[in-house]
Amino acid sequence: MLVNQIKYQEIAKQLMEQSVTLVAVSKTKPPAAIEELYNFGQRDFGENYVQELVDKQAALPKDIRWHFIGHLQTNKVKYIAPFVHLIHGVDSYKLLKEIDKQGEKRGRVIEVLLQVHIAQEETKFGLDDQELATLFQQVVAEGLSYVTIRGLMGMASFTEDETQVKREFQYLKSLFDKYSQKHSLQILSMGMSGDYLLAVQEGSTMVRIGSLLFGARN
Ligand SMILES: *Cc1c(COP(=O)(O)O)cnc(C)c1O
Repeated sequence: MLVNQIKYQEIAKQLMEQSVTLVAVSKTKPPAAIEELYNFGQRDFGENYVQELVDKQAALPKDIRWHFIGHLQTNKVKYIAPFVHLIHGVDSYKLLKEIDKQGEKRGRVIEVLLQVHIAQEETKFGLDDQELATLFQQVVAEGLSYVTIRGLMGMASFTEDETQVKREFQYLKSLFDKYSQKHSLQILSMGMSGDYLLAVQEGSTMVRIGSLLFGARN
């Protein structure tokens, strides 16, 4: 057993009842662990590293929906462009443009989420409200045809302080509501192993859960 089956079934059921999509974060875990969850019916998997994602995609069933949830470098977009289902962490126009270019080359529209900086920590990537507004404006003005912004993604502070985490999720939800109509946003990706219940409570439509399903990473 490479995955916690009981935990998986409990979480999957709970999320399905609330129409929240579960992305199983399989980074650093072997393909056999992914297959185990696949056999229980899981189809959405998330990875952080391009090479690891490319290798796993080649080795595993073709109906898996692969989510790229790490920080994507512009020069690596081409490796995942042929198959990636959703890129969660887009935080610059330069990256959007490159995704558009690679989408055009492959004749497919690539769906992305814009990453918003909501945590207190300085190290986390993402846009603030002003940068988000600017980026949306640029996208509308330039009319990129091979990339579609489906929603927003964010990571809360790594803290035990639930009030703080809740406040950050509420902030992200407020930005989602602010832009969702004008830009047809449908996905709000927030919540991980430690805070997904809070995230769902605050309006998340997609959670990214790794260690609760696969155990701690090294
Ligand atoms: C690793 C990772 C996760 C999953 O984290 P867990 O705490 O193991 O659930 C979710 N989102 C992102 C962006 C990650 O890098």
